[in-house]
Amino acid sequence: MAEAIAEAKRCLHCKVPQCKKGCPVGNDIPDWIHELSMGNLGNAMSIINAKSNLPAVCGRVCAHERQCEGHCVLGKKGSHINIGRLEQFVADFDTQMHLSRQPIVQKDRGRVAVIGSGPAGLTVAGELARGGFDVEIFEMEPQPGGVLTFGIPEYRLPKAIVKSEIEKIRQLGVRFTTDVTIGPDINIDELFARGFDAIFMGTGAGKPRKLPIEGVHYEGVRQAIHFLRRVGLYREGLIGRDEVPISEGDVVYIVGCGNTAMDVSRTVLRFGASKATIVYHNTIEHMTALRAEYDDAVAEGVQFLWNTSLTTIKPNDEGAYDVTIVEEGETKTVKANKVILAVGSGPASRIVSTTHGIEVDEKGYVLTRELPYGMTTRKGVFAGGDVSGNQATVVHAMSNAREVAAGIAAYVDALNLMKSIDLA
Ligand code: SF4
Repeated sequence: MAEAIAEAKRCLHCKVPQCKKGCPVGNDIPDWIHELSMGNLGNAMSIINAKSNLPAVCGRVCAHERQCEGHCVLGKKGSHINIGRLEQFVADFDTQMHLSRQPIVQKDRGRVAVIGSGPAGLTVAGELARGGFDVEIFEMEPQPGGVLTFGIPEYRLPKAIVKSEIEKIRQLGVRFTTDVTIGPDINIDELFARGFDAIFMGTGAGKPRKLPIEGVHYEGVRQAIHFLRRVGLYREGLIGRDEVPISEGDVVYIVGCGNTAMDVSRTVLRFGASKATIVYHNTIEHMTALRAEYDDAVAEGVQFLWNTSLTTIKPNDEGAYDVTIVEEGETKTVKANKVILAVGSGPASRIVSTTHGIEVDEKGYVLTRELPYGMTTRKGVFAGGDVSGNQATVVHAMSNAREVAAGIAAYVDALNLMKSIDLA
């Protein structure tokens, strides 16, 4: 507490706060830092809650160096305010001490189904529940949280924190139905038939991109998001250790150099791999991973091959694989037990292929419009976050989802007004 208050006191409370400009959800950073500097943690939390539904998550996984902290004026001559850590502190303190209680409003503005419970789905659900909508979330996994639960590793985002953030959204009156895949189990038409006024698709981008590598179909080659999901299921006690495809002493090559590749490489080492090597076709200046994530990966022993491509994977007589890599123009064969592909992902088509009227672009991203904001080409069906191409980070998905929530509210209000006029 003393450390947090001392840090908060360093803030200049700038008239035109650059930190706020750097925050995708426009968090009123100097205002809550000011409350924190006076020890008013409840007030600080209320200010944060006005803009963010997941502050304990943002405080931990946001790209602070590129966002708020990267814009703080104090960083130009000395050290920026540690905004991320302060936000994390306020949110955790609030959870532990039950400081702020959010008022439960009457849910009489309409019924909204939210598909997917990752950052976008949780944000839409939280915003609409606070605004007086009756919201039900449908999640295909056995537990809610999407990428927060089954994507980002425990050491970066403890699952106890995710659970407490989800609990806060549940306390707003949001209902969660898990183990249901919208598309194959219940389709969009059936959801409307159940009486929902609007539907939000926050289904993310869970379909891995393909790479022209020979041998990607072998058992030892895995997709990063599938691998991290298994790690998440294991951490939640839902599958056994033998179902996480990394064994003690494995030599692992990881293709790609974004934050997911960093997460995978550190996770495989933590699961007993003897060597984790990231293969990247470009230079360090071009990697999409945050510098801080890269530094942590290096500190943990991850190795990097720059300007290198992995071209073929072939099983060998030792029960492992001979992997061909082309490093700076020179072709070599290396031995690997596993290869994990972390080269990005696009949206799955489970919903779009099981209903009519929802158009997508050539990459499969759902098309949305400006008015009402976030509505797809099908009336009453909205989309936001990764599935509509507004991907990048947790906070960008949240920022987009907040705007879509406003679009849904305007649409349902207009719908009810029309109905009341019809009835009159
Ligand atoms: Fe405080 Fe830095 Fe934001 Fe200025 S830019 S208000 S010093 S956190």
